[in-house]
This record gives sequence, C-alpha cells and structure tokens, in this order.
Amino acid sequence: MSGWVAIAGLGPGNEALVTEEVRAALAEATDIVGYIPYVARVAPREGLRLHASDNRVELDRANLALDMAAAGQRVVVVSSGDPGVFAMAAAVFEALETRPDPDAFDIRILPGITAMLAAAARLGAPLGHDFCAMNLSDNLKPWDLIEKRLRLAAEAGFAMAFYNPRSKSRPHGFARVLEILRETAGPETLISFARAVTTPDERLTTVTLAEATPEMADMRTMVIVGNADTRRVGRWVYTPRQVR
Ligand code: SAH
Repeated sequence: MSGWVAIAGLGPGNEALVTEEVRAALAEATDIVGYIPYVARVAPREGLRLHASDNRVELDRANLALDMAAAGQRVVVVSSGDPGVFAMAAAVFEALETRPDPDAFDIRILPGITAMLAAAARLGAPLGHDFCAMNLSDNLKPWDLIEKRLRLAAEAGFAMAFYNPRSKSRPHGFARVLEILRETAGPETLISFARAVTTPDERLTTVTLAEATPEMADMRTMVIVGNADTRRVGRWVYTPRQVR
C-alpha cells in the first residue's frame, strides 16, 4: 500500500506551536480529514482536498481516512492539541479494529502540544506535582463515572486538568463538578480557567473554588484545579514539587 495516514496534532492554536513533523506531513498530503474548525487551520493549496465534517462523526472520518489510504492517497487526520488526547487517534484505531489486516496500513501518530500543557505554561506551573486529566463530557461515558473519578482524584490529592468542561448541551454538569470539588478538595483550593490559550482571544482567570462560578468555563476553556499545596507567586500559579 503506497498511501498513508498521519494522525496529527495542530497544537492549541498558535502557528508557532505546530511541530516541524506535522508541517512536513501537511506539505506532503493529498487529503486532509477532520472537524470543520481544525481543517480550517490548514492552508489550502492546489491538489489538496479538504474533507471537513461536523462534530461527533469521528468513526466515519476515521473510516474515510483508512479507505483513502488504501486507495493510495496521503491522508492527514487533524486534531487540535494532541491527537491522542480526547481526539482522533483513538477513533482511527477503533476503525482499524474492524479491518481484516490492521498492519497493512501505514499509520503514524504525530504528537502536538495538548491544551492542558499550553494552559499550564501560560498559568505558571500548576501541574508541577502529580496530576490527572479528565474529559468532563458525558457523551461517551456515564455521568456517575465522572463524579466518581472526580471524588477519588480529589481525595488522592491530584491536581486536575479538565477538557470539555461545559457546553450548551450540558449546562448543569459543571455546576455539579464545582460542588463536588468544594466538598472534597475544599473551598480554598485554587482553580484556573484558561480560555483559548495561545490565540488572540486568550483569557486567564484564577480564583478559589469558593469563588468559582460555572459561567467561568465554556468549550474553549481548559480548567485546572490545584492540589492542597498549589499557590500563587506574583501573577503566577504553581504547585511545588514537594508535598508539605
Ligand atoms: N485533542 C485536544 C483536546 C480536544 S477536546 C488537545 O489535545 O488539546 C477539546 C477541549 O480542549 C476544549 O473543550 C477545551 O477544553 C480544550 N482546548 C482545546 N484548545 C484549547 C485552547 N486553545 N485553550 C483552552 N482550551 C482548549
């Protein structure tokens, strides 16, 4: 098979944060596949076909990419941030599981800078000690599981990074998340809202859990909750490497 699939991360938004490896794959591609706003970040050029699709059709997109690669095309599947973090890489493997010979495909995963790390860098070093990452959307998992993981992570003293914190279709979930965190991590714990990081719309806000309101987050926001040691130093937020 002469075609290939590269599953690439475009980083958090700023062009300077797209890796050289991803740029090279985009330059060689015949076809780009992805969610509309991510495909829009790829510069059009002659001979490059753009296949932009709406949200929630990840498996169709993955199958399209595999079929085109099988037909000899050079396909880049684009995600924002990193493709392995709540994004297209797992969807391509899900599609690959249904194919008779998975190893017949030439597949590469090209990492990108995930929103969590870009947000942490803008805030200071809130993830300087042990942390976990969660997707707060209940599209693909039961809400009860989200609550359970939140409680256990807070009890274990992890700092936490939340993707997809709040959307119009799920207006109440994030209010519940804040309630649970106030109970388990305590009202004085710091919480940061990092919106549209590395883009011209960037906005950074840090408050205590007692002061946090659901409206502080939307679908362009990364939420980072500190642990008991997380503190401010000047305008920065950091979590010391050593536990008190
Ligand atoms: N694969 C992506 C995450 C996809 S989930 C990555 O690795 O970054 C989409 C969520 O990522 C958004 O709801 C938001 O929580 C977060 N996100 C993506 N880009 C962001 C940015 N520039 N600033 C803040 N959060 C961002």
